[in-house]
This record gives sequence, structure tokens and C-alpha cells, in this order.
Amino acid sequence: MLTTMNEQIERTAAALRKHHFEVAVVSNATEAFERMKSEVETFAPQTVSFGDSMTMHATGIIDWIRHDPRYELIDGFDASMPRPERLEIRRRGLLADLFITGINAVTEHGTLHWLDMVGNRIAPVAFGPRRVILVAGRNKIVADRREAEERIRTLAAPQNIARHPGFRTPCAHTGTCMDCNSPDRICNTRMEMLRCYPEGRILVILIDEELGL
Ligand code: SF4
Repeated sequence: MLTTMNEQIERTAAALRKHHFEVAVVSNATEAFERMKSEVETFAPQTVSFGDSMTMHATGIIDWIRHDPRYELIDGFDASMPRPERLEIRRRGLLADLFITGINAVTEHGTLHWLDMVGNRIAPVAFGPRRVILVAGRNKIVADRREAEERIRTLAAPQNIARHPGFRTPCAHTGTCMDCNSPDRICNTRMEMLRCYPEGRILVILIDEELGL
């Protein structure tokens, strides 16, 4: 079937491929799910872990893996567990066979950008799992590194804070980043990935829909 893909997405996909990422462009979250399901079944991991991402959850891939007995899901986000226990599980997730999460900003130059509070989301993207799948809606695409930083500072971080009602940070009240020193600060670590190493380790799925923060 012929689909009309956003030119900006195709340009971004080409730049990412040039930087050694594997890239798939899909029309919506359902297609993203199908692409990921096929990838998981082909790669056949014993263990799978994930980092918090609204886009990833919107695809339904984690629920599907959770209910498939072929895979062990290392889930460090079970709210019924005490936080120290959840963090220990996230430590195990660093060595899962496959890791799945989202991205805060993707540049048309072919680079990826994140913020992270704990670090469990960005560390396994950089190293550990043999295979990584990242998903991003078209709203995550920006022109360059400066715009990526701007997007993280003015959009991703303050809006993520709004998902955590108990967090006391300036942006929770004003919606604007004050580069705070709060113990609840969610932007403790930034990561930018300029190339994929080894080549093809990371599959980036760009979705031609507005998804996530
Ligand atoms: S540094 Fe503080 S104020 Fe700025 S976005 Fe992060 S948590 Fe909010």
C-alpha cells in the first residue's frame, strides 16, 4: 500500500542510517508494534527490559512481551514493589538481551538526545543489551542539537514532571525549567548519541504520528 510519509521523517531516517543506525519509518503506533513484534521474534531474546516511555507504551509492545512465555520481561516499574527493589530490577535490565525505550529528541542531522533522572533509560541504550529498539513520534524531530536541547528543557522535562504529581520542582509549578537543584529533579543526566556502535545495534522506529512527550 502506498503511504505518504512526512519528508522531514524521511530526511531524518536517511541521516540516521548514514550514522550507522538501522531505521524503520512507519505510519502509526500499530505499524510500530508490528515492526517491533517481528524484530523481537526474529532476534528471539531470552530477556527483555525497557525504559519508561509513553510512545513505547502506546505501541503495546511491552504488554505483548509480558504475556508471551517465550520471553522474560525484566520490569523495574512495578509500583507495588518498594523503590529499592525496583531499582535492583532496573540494574538487571542493564544486561537484558534486548532493551526498548523512547527518545526525547531526534535531529535531522541524525543524532539522538535524552534526559534521564535515574539513568536506567539511557545507560543500556549506550551499552549492555545486544539489541536496542527505540521509538519516536514525528513530534520528537528537531532541526539540530540546539533545538534538541531546547525541546528537552522547555517541553520534555516540564511535561514529564507533570506525570509525577508528588515531585516538587520549579517546573511543576511554572511549566518552565529553572535548572533547579531539587532532589526531585528529573533531568540529572543528558545523553546524546552521535553514531550507532556497533553498526546496526540500534533499531530506530520513526512513527509518522504525534506521540509521547
Ligand atoms: S532542571 Fe528542574 S526545573 Fe528544570 S526541567 Fe528539570 S526538574 Fe524541572
